[in-house]
Amino acid sequence: MEYGQIILKSGKDQSLKRYHPWVFSGAIKKTKGNFTEGDMVRVFNNKEEFLGVGHYQPATIAVRILSFEDRSIDETFWREKLSEAVELRKRLGYLEDDETNVFRLVNAEGDGFPGLIIDYYNGVAVMQSHSVGTHRQKGLFTEILKEMLGSSLKVVYDKSSSTLPYNASVEKSNRYIYGKANDQEVREKGLIFHVNWEEGQKTGFFIDQRENRNLLKAYAKDANVLNLFGYTGGFSVYAAAGGCKSVASVDSSSGAVELAEKNMELNFGNRVTHHAMAEEAFSYLKNMDEQYDIIILDPPAFAKHHKVLPNALQGYKKLNRLALEKIEPGGLIFTFSCSQVVSRDNFRKTVFTASANTGRRVRVLHQLSQPSDHPVSIYHPEGEYLKGLVLQVE
Ligand code: SAH
Repeated sequence: MEYGQIILKSGKDQSLKRYHPWVFSGAIKKTKGNFTEGDMVRVFNNKEEFLGVGHYQPATIAVRILSFEDRSIDETFWREKLSEAVELRKRLGYLEDDETNVFRLVNAEGDGFPGLIIDYYNGVAVMQSHSVGTHRQKGLFTEILKEMLGSSLKVVYDKSSSTLPYNASVEKSNRYIYGKANDQEVREKGLIFHVNWEEGQKTGFFIDQRENRNLLKAYAKDANVLNLFGYTGGFSVYAAAGGCKSVASVDSSSGAVELAEKNMELNFGNRVTHHAMAEEAFSYLKNMDEQYDIIILDPPAFAKHHKVLPNALQGYKKLNRLALEKIEPGGLIFTFSCSQVVSRDNFRKTVFTASANTGRRVRVLHQLSQPSDHPVSIYHPEGEYLKGLVLQVE
């Protein structure tokens, strides 16, 4: 098949030569041939050297490179990519683990699959596209996954209505591609969670915090734990599994608070003291009288774009300062940022400033990240979006 061509302005080929998979619209000098959103294009520098082939999108990220080799992107290509993704998860032990049946199967750029994520919930694959190119191929991806996973794959749900580019001219409703079921219980490290991919945030569950929740479990014995921005109560359930004295889940969404209650009940009946509160996290922290030994701060991304980065950093600083002021002496704070545009360094500096403002002695016990089923391409540092610190505060 003849693909359209994109020729870059002089000097704009450097990032592609270092295998970064994005071409920004401002780097384009001219185009050849006819192509539209979702079509495959070949990208060249202004000396006519081939750089890569990928999906075109009339947006800020104009091309997502799929291959740096000059090859056709056909069924064989997709088969190879999906097979690599499945093999990695097998190697990591996720497909044979009875204790954990929820994991990320495809992590966009980290799996050489820019524009697509697939999360796996015990036989249910939830696909989410950020590009029209990957969106169009979901029928094929489903057929390939059915072959690879066999009878363990029961449902494929496409949840891309809110992640496709806003101006994309494709049908954007969420739909079942294969089978149907709108929720189920999954297991993570032997703990049970109710997941509803149709109504839940993102694909239904924050799989990326698995190992960090497990770390909390190791510290939770006899502690009073506050889980701010708790959503499904993931951290709360692990705190209880670790033998905490009490745990409080706070989220501004009442639906989330109900989910947290449900998940606590699924695992522990009413054997654990759990306070679930639908409240705004900043004001809860500011006004609370309770004394907590461990506080978890896992807010939504405060910055989705570079333009709002300074405001976002102010938000993280304020939140961390409030927690640092309130935590019991000797207490721990698990603090996170999932904003792609906030670097690890920037986040650490922000927590440093917040600490200095309180004058308390603060030590870093752990530096946290995302787990191995969310791999990061070394050439695409933006993929390392989850950053966390465990602080001990005297
Ligand atoms: N820690 C969770 C994921 C948190 S997602 C887990 O491990 O699964 C972020 C959550 O913050 C969402 O549930 C959202 O409803 C909630 N939220 C957003 N803004 C908030 C605010 N100002 N106060 C309290 N909760 C908020």
